[in-house]
Amino acid sequence: MNSPQTLIIGAGAAGLSAACFCSGPALILEQMESPGRKLLATGGGRCNLTHDCSPKEMARNFGRNARFVAPAIHHFPPSQIRAFFAAAGVPTIVQPDGCVFPESQRAHDPLLALVQEAKSNGAGIKTGVTVERLLAAPGGNDLRRIVCVKTSAGDFYPQRVILAAGGLSYPRLGSDGSGLRMLRELGLIIEPPLPALAALKTVESWPAEMAGTVLKNAALTLRDEHNHKHQCAGEILFTHEGISALPALNLAGEISALLARRAGRPVAVELNLKRTRSMEQWLALFHGWRTNTGGRALHNLLAGELPRALAQHLCRDVGLMDCAVARAAKKNLQELATLLTACPLHIRATDGWEKAMLTRGGLAVQELNPHTLACHSISNLYCAGEVVDVDGPCGGYNLTWAFASAALAAADPGSGG
Ligand SMILES: Cc1cc2nc3c(=O)[nH]c(=O)nc-3n(C[C@H](O)[C@H](O)[C@H](O)COP(=O)(O)OP(=O)(O)OC[C@H]3O[C@@H](n4cnc5c(N)ncnc54)[C@H](O)[C@@H]3O)c2cc1C
Repeated sequence: MNSPQTLIIGAGAAGLSAACFCSGPALILEQMESPGRKLLATGGGRCNLTHDCSPKEMARNFGRNARFVAPAIHHFPPSQIRAFFAAAGVPTIVQPDGCVFPESQRAHDPLLALVQEAKSNGAGIKTGVTVERLLAAPGGNDLRRIVCVKTSAGDFYPQRVILAAGGLSYPRLGSDGSGLRMLRELGLIIEPPLPALAALKTVESWPAEMAGTVLKNAALTLRDEHNHKHQCAGEILFTHEGISALPALNLAGEISALLARRAGRPVAVELNLKRTRSMEQWLALFHGWRTNTGGRALHNLLAGELPRALAQHLCRDVGLMDCAVARAAKKNLQELATLLTACPLHIRATDGWEKAMLTRGGLAVQELNPHTLACHSISNLYCAGEVVDVDGPCGGYNLTWAFASAALAAADPGSGG
């Protein structure tokens, strides 16, 4: 089958979904020994398939590329993704936060369903085959066509190609950036790939002193060079190198981009340690403590509000360690309240490709028709999933993009033949 109608590069979430929706015979080439290695690792092995929201809201979460992703998301919205998996024997459940998981809580089940659906749609899957190069030739109307796909298992001559080779995140699970290299070799614009959904490494060493500590109700704020505010609320985890968990992961792509633009100079962020309490409310609380429990050490009182190690660090920082609250100077309490609501941190790096869960950057969206995901300049080349410069937050958004972009690319009868 060296001349399949559609050749799909990569058997990840996108490649497998594409194979489920192709109207003619398709062949997937996958360089790993088995399909969907990354899919198995998603959601901590539980696979957060999608998010329970409207297509409009889903698209909006892709920020700078919200308009580009909208046609794909409307083509295969979260409700239909859930219906697709349910029909394939994988019913799903919605968590209170809107994240959708297989009822079985096993990533293995959606993977098996995708493989079975792809096969019953007539697709073949060849594993252990690396695609090395895409050869293009003039194809009329000033467009080029892919005429040959060079692989470790010989040459293929498909009528059309869907490139779903992923980005650079978690290379041990298969996505090693070779898809981006092949697109660059074709002369297409590649936005520099940067780690996203990654933990943040701080210049400050104090977060390491409380590694393992979790702040339940925190918020992280970043202001870019245009003073645009990016904010994300949720749990923050202190780590041996800085901070992690949802707000840190979700801001990592933006921070990676800022670090790149600033040639690696650290990026300032502010951590609100308890977003349920404003600066005024903290000051009112301190006032109450001074009146009612003036003899008690401030750090002990604060330890009732925050993890003890953090309370001690903050009090030390403003010169109030071991100080009875009634003896604390107002100026220092004001300083403490500022720290509690906007604690400054400086990010020197994000985790690298080995640990980053997503790639920001990739094939520039202006290279693709958002209504078909075909390349403007290469008529029979389509791209889907993480290889495209689209990155969303945690919560099932990125798998939704993988499924939806692949379904749209597969649906286009396009230029085959
Ligand atoms: C640990 C982890 C957890 C995650 N959890 C979630 C989650 O719960 N929910 C969510 O929405 N998103 C999650 N993501 C993100 C999500 O996994 C990705 O967005 C999604 O898998 C991208 O799918 P893809 O098919 O585009 O790429 P990939 O899944 O990376 O698949 C690409 C495939 O192409 C193959 N390939 C690459 N180059 C070649 C080549 N030259 N020749 C042949 N084959 C090739 C690779 O081996 C790979 O199998 C998580 C990511 C990670 C790393």
